[in-house]
Amino acid sequence: MPKVVTAELIGAYALTEPNAGSDAQGGKVKAVLSKDGTHYILDGTKMWITNGGFADYFIVFAKIDGEKEKFSAFIVERAWEGVSTGGEEHKMGIKSSSTRMIMFDKVKVPVENLLGEIGQGAKIAFNILNTGRFKLGAGALGGAKHSLNLATKYAKERKQFDTYICNFGMMQEKLAEMALRSYAIESVIYRTAGLIDAAIGDEKDSNKRLKSIEEYAIECSIIKVMGSELLDFAVDEGVQIHGGYGYSQEYAIERAYRDSRINRIYEGTNEINRMLTTSMLLKRGMKGDIPLLKAAQEVGKEVLDPVFDFDEPEGTLAEERMVVQGLKKAALMVAGAAAMKFGPKLESEQEILARCADMAFLVYACESALLRTLKLEANGQDIALQDKMVQVYVHEAAEKAMQIGREAICRFVEGDELPVYISALKRFTKHTMRNTIALRRDIAAAVIEADGYPFKN
Ligand SMILES: Cc1cc2nc3c(=O)[nH]c(=O)nc-3n(C[C@H](O)[C@H](O)[C@H](O)COP(=O)(O)OP(=O)(O)OC[C@H]3O[C@@H](n4cnc5c(N)ncnc54)[C@H](O)[C@@H]3O)c2cc1C
Repeated sequence: MPKVVTAELIGAYALTEPNAGSDAQGGKVKAVLSKDGTHYILDGTKMWITNGGFADYFIVFAKIDGEKEKFSAFIVERAWEGVSTGGEEHKMGIKSSSTRMIMFDKVKVPVENLLGEIGQGAKIAFNILNTGRFKLGAGALGGAKHSLNLATKYAKERKQFDTYICNFGMMQEKLAEMALRSYAIESVIYRTAGLIDAAIGDEKDSNKRLKSIEEYAIECSIIKVMGSELLDFAVDEGVQIHGGYGYSQEYAIERAYRDSRINRIYEGTNEINRMLTTSMLLKRGMKGDIPLLKAAQEVGKEVLDPVFDFDEPEGTLAEERMVVQGLKKAALMVAGAAAMKFGPKLESEQEILARCADMAFLVYACESALLRTLKLEANGQDIALQDKMVQVYVHEAAEKAMQIGREAICRFVEGDELPVYISALKRFTKHTMRNTIALRRDIAAAVIEADGYPFKN
């Protein structure tokens, strides 16, 4: 372990196989105990293994005797007889990382190199993915802010029609949108990091520490999807701001564009993470781990029997606070009604699972950005800029939630019930019109002034 920590030894995580990607436990790599019981014989092929060209050891996931219940993890050294690798994959991006196929041909793995216990492979694999997803999302946020910085610098240097392109409204809108989405997702990441830290506390027992991280598996999936989609958005707009030069390898944004794309694919594709978000939420709700059922039942009553609150909201971002409460109700209504309608068959209603996940993302991001801004204000900071970002983000979220929710509802509500649900959705996503164009111009002015992302922490 000390050599792993100092990177004198480099490791690799070998889960994927040529025919088992998203269905990670559907692989064929097999381990069979030797007759004398001293070692396992490992056979099979792993695919797309990062660090494959130079890793000293691999954490290899394999089925003992080919049995799914005995899916286990092994520490396998590169130097051992029977371990070989394919050539380097020629990838679209992240070219400085090594990606290879790894072959195991009757490799003798000592029994003491079984990691954990027989049958614990999935637990080990998925716990690694939880933290991996968190880190991927946080890294992607860093990439998005970097792309914003590159784009801002370029927009301040490039002149067309005798003026710097950063003076054009459509360029400003892109810069503002990159900045405000980054702020929202940064808030999600800080919030979740704080929650995980608090859950781990001073715990020394590694199993309990893992359990605390597992508690936040849903949030890790959300961060993975939101972070990777933010980055794709930022690099795409970054290239656009660079015009033809963005398409040239001489400019860093070209590489950022290619490097970004992988993030929606590995650590569980975004489709898989969307499904996981909704199914984990529903499962935990059914088990009573989170008070989802009660909340959904209460919203269900409100669908049929509207509650009209005529109190005018007051204070900082009062309107947005109200919208976030409404968005939660909208998400609960859609997920609750879908769960009632389809029961266990909801698993095969993937489009609805994805829409429920998207609504959960919007709720979590809006609420996180809002709470962070209110906390900054309570700490005496000037929040004029953050306030504007939250206004735009929440406004857009309410519009998106209306559209996503409507599509989901139309899939499974019919007849007289349909207008009842649609009108409830309208109530729950109600928001005051904002001059979002003017707000984005103000945000862009701050971005241009700061040469990029306007917040340092
Ligand atoms: C550069 C790179 C580095 C990688 N590094 C590693 C590594 O270090 N270790 C490792 O183990 N793996 C690694 N991977 C593998 C990566 O995790 C897989 O590529 C990924 O999980 C997707 O699997 P797949 O490529 O087989 O795609 P598939 O699973 O075949 O998916 C193809 C498409 O079908 C969709 N799909 C699949 N199942 C479903 C479903 N049930 N419902 C709806 N849609 C579905 C997917 O979302 C995707 O859009 C790496 C991959 C790449 C490209």
